[in-house]
Amino acid sequence: MNTTQLEMSHLANTSVPAQRQILKVEDLTVSFDGFRAVDNLNLTVDRNELRVIIGPNGAGKTTLLDMICGKTKPTAGRVLFNDIELTRMSEHEIVRAGVGRKFQTPSVYEDLSVLENFEISLPGMHGLFQSLTFRRTAQVRERIEEIADQVFLKDQLNRRACQLSHGQKQWLEIGMLLMQEPELLLLDEPVAGMSPREREQTGDLLSRIATGKSVVVIEHDMDFVKRIAHKVTVLHQGKLLSEGSASEVQSDRRVIDVYLGH
Ligand code: ADP
Ligand code: MG
Repeated sequence: MNTTQLEMSHLANTSVPAQRQILKVEDLTVSFDGFRAVDNLNLTVDRNELRVIIGPNGAGKTTLLDMICGKTKPTAGRVLFNDIELTRMSEHEIVRAGVGRKFQTPSVYEDLSVLENFEISLPGMHGLFQSLTFRRTAQVRERIEEIADQVFLKDQLNRRACQLSHGQKQWLEIGMLLMQEPELLLLDEPVAGMSPREREQTGDLLSRIATGKSVVVIEHDMDFVKRIAHKVTVLHQGKLLSEGSASEVQSDRRVIDVYLGH
C-alpha cells in the first residue's frame, strides 16, 4: 500500500454514517443438522461500546461471532453493520467493511518478526510475498510503532513471534487487527491463558480501544467482565437469556441458575 492509499483508507473510515447503533443482529438463527446453535437472536451494539458476551459452553457464543464475520452463514435472520447487510457478504468483504475478528487461539506468523507480522496486516496486503517486498515508508513505520506501543510490544518489534509469550501473541494479534482500522472488533476469549497482570493490561487496552471503536468480547472470567463491560449479554442454548450491566446479570436468577451458580 502506498501513502495515497493509506490516506484514502483513513478518509473512508471517517465518512461513516453517525447513527448510534453500529451492529444489529435480527432474528438470527443457524441450524446444524436440525440443531439450533443460535436460535432467533436479537441484539444491538452501540458505537464506542464494549459489550461482553458470556454463557455456558455450547451456548452459541463463538457461532454468533462466526456469523457476524461471515465464516458461518445463518439459516435465517440477518446481521447489519452500519446498516449494511453482512449476511450477504464474503468474509473478505466484511473485513474490508470494517469488522475485525480474533479467534480463540492466536494465529500469528511464528517465523516472522513482530514488525513483519504488523506489516502483513496492513489493509491491501494479501500475500506474504507482497508484504515482504513492499517499501517501509516512514508513515507505515510510524503507524506500526503507534500500535505496537498500544499493545505493549514496542520493545519486541524485532523478535520473532515464536519467541513471544502466549499473552504477547494475543496482544500481537489484537494489534494486527488494529492495523486494519476496524470500526468493530470481535474477540473470542482474548485473555485465555494470560497472567493476572496481563489480564489487567488487556482490560485497559480493550477499554481504550472502545473509546473510538466498538468491541464485542466473549469472556468467562467474571472479575474481568465486571471491570471492562459496558453491558453484558448472556446466551444460553443459542438464545438471549439476559442482558444488562455486569451487576444486573450477575444478580439475575436465570443467569445464576444456568451459568454463574456452577
Ligand atoms: P460457545 O462458543 O458458546 O461455547 P459454540 O458457538 O462453539 O459455543 O457452539 C454452540 C453449539 O453449536 C455447540 O453445541 C457446538 O457443538 C455446535 N456447533 C458449532 N459449530 C458447529 C458446526 N460447524 N457443526 C455442528 N455443530 C456445531
Ligand atoms: Mg466458544
